[in-house]
Amino acid sequence: VTDELRGAYSASRLTRQRREIAAAVTRMPGAFSAAQLAAELHGNGVAAGLATVYRALTSLEASGWIEKAGQREGAALFTHCAVEHHHHHLVCTTCGRVEHAPCPLEGVLAGVAESTGFVITGHDVALYGTCAACGAREGAQ
Ligand SMILES: [Zn+2]
Ligand SMILES: [Zn+2]
Ligand SMILES: [Zn+2]
Repeated sequence: VTDELRGAYSASRLTRQRREIAAAVTRMPGAFSAAQLAAELHGNGVAAGLATVYRALTSLEASGWIEKAGQREGAALFTHCAVEHHHHHLVCTTCGRVEHAPCPLEGVLAGVAESTGFVITGHDVALYGTCAACGAREGAQ
């Protein structure tokens, strides 16, 4: 096997692995961590290490296919998201369901920038709680 062939082989293997990872993302309910996605892949017979899953998530995020959706126990959460305009995510801490929320900082940032002298270039907001279905289930108990 020449180096060229080896290179082509690992490139197609990488592409297939990325495809498997992207397919697994669509099977995840709501918000998920890299470790949960790796477990889903393992469950489907795909051996992808956590580092590989992280790299794939980073490139999927760069392409706008997934977004960060806060964190759970210190692990970053991601969600498959097709919404293009600026928004944030509401994450159910019981079932992981994700809803899209309008930016709660709209109209606030200009005042903060003015009072602090900061040029604000970005912000990170995640909202946590219990979704309507989980709230109804808890209420019924
Ligand atoms: Zn979203
Ligand atoms: Zn829920
Ligand atoms: Zn915002």
